[in-house]
Order: sequence, then structure tokens, then C-alpha cells
Amino acid sequence: MRAEDEVIYLDNNSSTRIDPAVLDEMMPFLTSRYGNPSGSHRFGAKVKEATEQAHERVANLLGCQPNEIVFTSGGTESDNTALHSALQMSPERRHVVTTAVEHNAVLNYCEAAGRHGFQVTTVPVDEQGHLDLGELERAIRPETAVVSVMWANNETGVIYPIEEIAEMCRAKGVFFHTDAVQAVGKMSIDLSRLPIHFLSLSGHKLHASKGVGALYVNSKARFQPMMIGGPQEGGRRAGTDNVASIVGLGKAAALAAETLAEENTRVRNLRNRFESTLLAELENVSVNGDRNHRLPNTSNLAFNGTDAQAILVKLDQEGVCCSLGSSCTTGSVQPSHVLRAMHMPNERARSSIRFSFGRYNTEEELERVLEIIPRIVRKLRAL
Ligand code: PLP
Repeated sequence: MRAEDEVIYLDNNSSTRIDPAVLDEMMPFLTSRYGNPSGSHRFGAKVKEATEQAHERVANLLGCQPNEIVFTSGGTESDNTALHSALQMSPERRHVVTTAVEHNAVLNYCEAAGRHGFQVTTVPVDEQGHLDLGELERAIRPETAVVSVMWANNETGVIYPIEEIAEMCRAKGVFFHTDAVQAVGKMSIDLSRLPIHFLSLSGHKLHASKGVGALYVNSKARFQPMMIGGPQEGGRRAGTDNVASIVGLGKAAALAAETLAEENTRVRNLRNRFESTLLAELENVSVNGDRNHRLPNTSNLAFNGTDAQAILVKLDQEGVCCSLGSSCTTGSVQPSHVLRAMHMPNERARSSIRFSFGRYNTEEELERVLEIIPRIVRKLRAL
């Protein structure tokens, strides 16, 4: 096993390294500042000030109000809570609209709702990973309670036209939720201009810790909590706050707001150079998903005629970390549901690998992987 710092980590859509500045801000809340922010003493009140600042920082990144941020245990809980709330608040409406490329946190929730008598329409995508907005619009019926469409896909990076979809949902009078777990921190978002009811994000995708996330709840949206208990988070998410992680997520949001434009340009350049070099050096490599409407950090490549799993094993031996589709489905031999939804032949899907760049990737690492990957692929193809 290599030392962690010898690894070339190209799996940032799966999880990211905690920024040292985030960890610094978290540490006091894991040691000396252990008071309960709901406590009635000044020791607890000081902690409350820190969680309030975290609300402000996340709100600032998203262009919303601090009291519209509800901290959760992560992207999955945020997604589940948004859908749960929408279904609870429109009991007479028994229909949900989502897409075929959502994360399992949405898809499996919808499937479970289906088992409880809700109807679910799953809108397909085309070969590029795009939705047909006309089809989405036609899927919304008078009995639709909620539409859930991700902002950006975790596997391909394809970005969806959330502004238009939000407007469509507003016009039809249905709740709109977007899973922005992969978008937040990678593209600029301004909720002040958008009729979105709910937006999910996750700390560990933007250099905060795992097990913390947030749900944006538009102050005008009717809301029903999923976690029932104490009055935390304005009564919208019961349970003693995960203070250190919330403070860390606040700091991560502040860093993202500060560095977003610059970091995106740097990461996009790394990704583009990575892709163009591999496409030039190796035959039969293709990009999965619309290259022109993607997150700046994601490259999902099909090494046609080669088994992605075999490449992944070799890359792992050389200390390069990346993913077969979404890491939540890694281990399964089935091609990912996202690539399948894009009508990709099984053989191409099975030759596909997701590389996702991030804050800590360097030019030197890029040079190294651009030597390693062609060598491995040529060797495997020659077998
Ligand atoms: N939604 C998307 C698009 C994701 O990529 C992920 C994580 O991979 C999640 C939701 C789940 O987030 P979490 O791991 O914080 O529960």
C-alpha cells in the first residue's frame, strides 16, 4: 500500500480531501468548544455563533438567506428530505417526476415511493446525457407533487438546464428539487434569481468532511421535516448539530466562494489537457457525455475494446485513483445506470472510466498519468 501522498487522486466526484483550513476551523469544536449550541449557557451560545456563521457562509455561496439552509448528514439525507417533504405537503398528489440519470439517493427514494403507491415517471436522456425538455414538461401532470432533476451528473459531469426546469415547475405549480451535490463548489449558483424549492449539497464533495450536507429550503416553500425531535435547524431537522462538520462545511463554502472562478479555470485546463492528450495518443477513446455542457473537472472516457475494470486495477497498482461510473455502484459488474440510460452499448460502457480532477491535482500529476494511462491501455490491448 502506498503512502497517501503518493497517490494521484483523480476521484474527486467520489470524495475530496479536507482542506487544511477547513480542518483548522473544525478542530476546536472537536476538542475545547464542545458545548451544545442549543444550550442555555454562554459556552453553548459561542458554539451557536459558529453554526450561525456556517449558515451565512453556505447561504453566501448559493445566493440565498442563512435561514434557508438546513444542515443534514449529507447529500442522501438532503435528497430524501426534499422528496419526503414535497410528498407530505401535497398528499392529494401521488406522482413524482425524475430522470434516469439521478443518483441512487433520488432514484431509490422514488422507487420506494412507487412501492408505497406513488406513480413515478423517469424521464430518459439521449446519447449525450441530455434531457428532452418537452418530454419533461409533458411528464408533469395535475397530480404531480414534485419534480427532481440533478444540476450536474456525478458520472459524466453533464449539466442540466436547471433555470428552465425550475421555471417550468413554477408555471405548473409543482415542487422542484435539484440535487446539486456535484454542482456546488464547481459552478456558480445564484438561488436569488431562481424559483427552486429545494437544493441538496454534500460537504465531502467540496473539501469538507463526510457525513455533513445541507438542504436549501426556499423560505416560501411549505416544508415538512423528515427527522422529528428537537427544535434544531429552525425545527426543520431535529438532532443535536454535528457542530464541527457544520463549521467545516461553512469554511469550505467560504473557500469555494473565494476561489471558484480561479480554481475552475485551472482544473478545466488540467482536464482538457488530460483529455486531448489521451484522445490524440490512443486510438478508439471517446468522451461520454456532452463535452460542451459539462462540469470543468469531469472526464468520463471509453477506452473502446478494453475492459475498464482491468485498467482500473492497473491504475490502482500505480497509485492512480479513479472510478468505474459512480463509486456507489463500484463492485457491480453491471454498467452504470447513467451510461445505460445514455443508450450506450454494454461493451462501450464496460470500457468506461470516470476521472475527476480537483483542487489538489498538479501539473506534475497530470504529466505522470499521461505517461501511465497510454502505457497501461496499450499493454492491455496487446494481450
Ligand atoms: N447526489 C449525488 C449527485 C452524488 O454524487 C452523491 C454522492 O456521490 C450523493 C447525492 C450522495 O451524497 P452523500 O454521499 O453526501 O450522501
